[in-house]
Amino acid sequence: MLRAAGEIDVMDGLMQPRPLTIAHILERAERLYAHKHVATAGAERCTYADVADHTRRLATVLDSLGVPVGARVATFASNNRRHLEIYLAVPATKRVLHTINIRLSPEHLEYIVNHAEDDVIFVDRGLLPRIWPSVDQLPRVRHWVVLPDGSDTAIPVDPRILDYDELISGGDPFAGSFEDTFALADENLASGLCYTSGTTGPPKGVLYSHRSTVLHCLGTLAAGLIGLSESDVVMPIVPFFHANAWGLPYGAIMAGASLVLPGTSADPAHLLQLMEAERVTVAGAVPTVWTSLVPELRAYDLSATRFLLGGGSAVPPALSETYRAALGVPITHSWGMTEVSPVGAIGGTRTQHREATAEEQVAVRAAQGQPLPLVNVRIVDVETGRELPRDGRAVGELQVAGPWVAGGYFHVDGGDSFTDDGWLRTGDLATIDADGYLRLVDRVKDLIKSGGEWISSVELEAAIASHPDVVEVAVIARPDPRWMERPVAYVVLRDGSAATAEELLQHITPMVARWWLPDEFVFMTTLPKTGTGKLSKSALRDSTRIA
Ligand code: ADP
Repeated sequence: MLRAAGEIDVMDGLMQPRPLTIAHILERAERLYAHKHVATAGAERCTYADVADHTRRLATVLDSLGVPVGARVATFASNNRRHLEIYLAVPATKRVLHTINIRLSPEHLEYIVNHAEDDVIFVDRGLLPRIWPSVDQLPRVRHWVVLPDGSDTAIPVDPRILDYDELISGGDPFAGSFEDTFALADENLASGLCYTSGTTGPPKGVLYSHRSTVLHCLGTLAAGLIGLSESDVVMPIVPFFHANAWGLPYGAIMAGASLVLPGTSADPAHLLQLMEAERVTVAGAVPTVWTSLVPELRAYDLSATRFLLGGGSAVPPALSETYRAALGVPITHSWGMTEVSPVGAIGGTRTQHREATAEEQVAVRAAQGQPLPLVNVRIVDVETGRELPRDGRAVGELQVAGPWVAGGYFHVDGGDSFTDDGWLRTGDLATIDADGYLRLVDRVKDLIKSGGEWISSVELEAAIASHPDVVEVAVIARPDPRWMERPVAYVVLRDGSAATAEELLQHITPMVARWWLPDEFVFMTTLPKTGTGKLSKSALRDSTRIA
């Protein structure tokens, strides 16, 4: 006999409530993949066994420095082997890893370190001159640990300054299990802290947990998404401090892949040489970095490449196609933000697109992609808050919810960043189609409002970037007495190009509506970038005095 729903006993499952912890990632690496390599620029090479040994020693060093459980431990460092050890040791011992953007202004840097109440800062020797001048403004920092990086930058004489390698060699190679130190259900402990860029108001801290980090890692590892495996050689060009390097370091370790860490230099030849020499299979970077590699792309043997990830801002389809033509591998789009750990969606085609024309496939690849498993997305009308249809046409503010999406900010009010039902408001405008693909139209604040209609700066940029002589482009709004705002394009041309505004205009005329055509093309030698290497439209607006 059927029973009414109300009569069925509700039961808990009988599975072990083991916590999801970063300690597990560390212990897995040493048990399963001890022989796999971590290569840092400058021919420094070691194995996960070495990394794990140093990590264990570092854990005891943190104890002997009296760094309490729960304390914030900051890094001001490039992608290198020592940074990776800190990445593992800090959360595995229940402290909170605070990765600081090395390109912050002193004002933001001081605000963030004081707001986070960092107890220790680990800093690359070569980066000391960028942070040490702020020392008097950072009274809470008790220890400054210098990471040797091959540079001979002068080290100030100060009792607070310690040497990483000396500390490690004096550390105890603790043989116990970090996993066991996590009591049952400790997975919600904070593990990491990352501040947003603060383009609107002061920077806000996103406080990750062990659970959110492990689930994000598994989410990105899913086959068909980034899908890292043991046979991969993964190179996060995206800095460790840029939203956890998009999960690539923990993801690579979890999968048993080798890691290649490029250090401080973003020089294209350096990055390409490393990719060739280490036979890198997977790499991730913002579009401006991918653009910088284009001129020398064919000069290197990059035949091992199987997956290139681009995100942080829209990857122009023409850029992705350049890579597909040169390497047979497009740049796969990923959408995310610091508040989303950061990856929320990953692009690429599906089986249903196999028969599509080449042009249609390019259009699918241009989309920011499908949400990761466990991530929910919706678009809502900016004015009414009403949810909009997933028809690929309706444009609304993108909102997200999921186990690795922030639910609040560290020690500040979330303000209007969250909806009443707890979803994150992203500030991005998007469409969602019937297959679940997200397409970002623009950021709310970058959209150009002309004569009561919207112009997507992102789409205009993609059209202009498809001209073979265009290296970089940013479109911003200029106030206009008649139309309210009109688009102006700032363009960097390839060296030696004689392309004119007329020519660019002609090139894009078939691609966009007539009233979208920019009022002016301004040719620049370079465009301003943010601390994470994205094109900075706010800096461009300031420098061109376009409000
Ligand atoms: P910020 O850029 O403010 O420093 P984040 O690095 O967290 O902070 O950036 C998040 C924002 O970057 C997103 O809200 C979105 O506007 C933009 N973004 C991220 N990935 C993409 C992408 N693939 N395409 C277009 N925009 C993107």
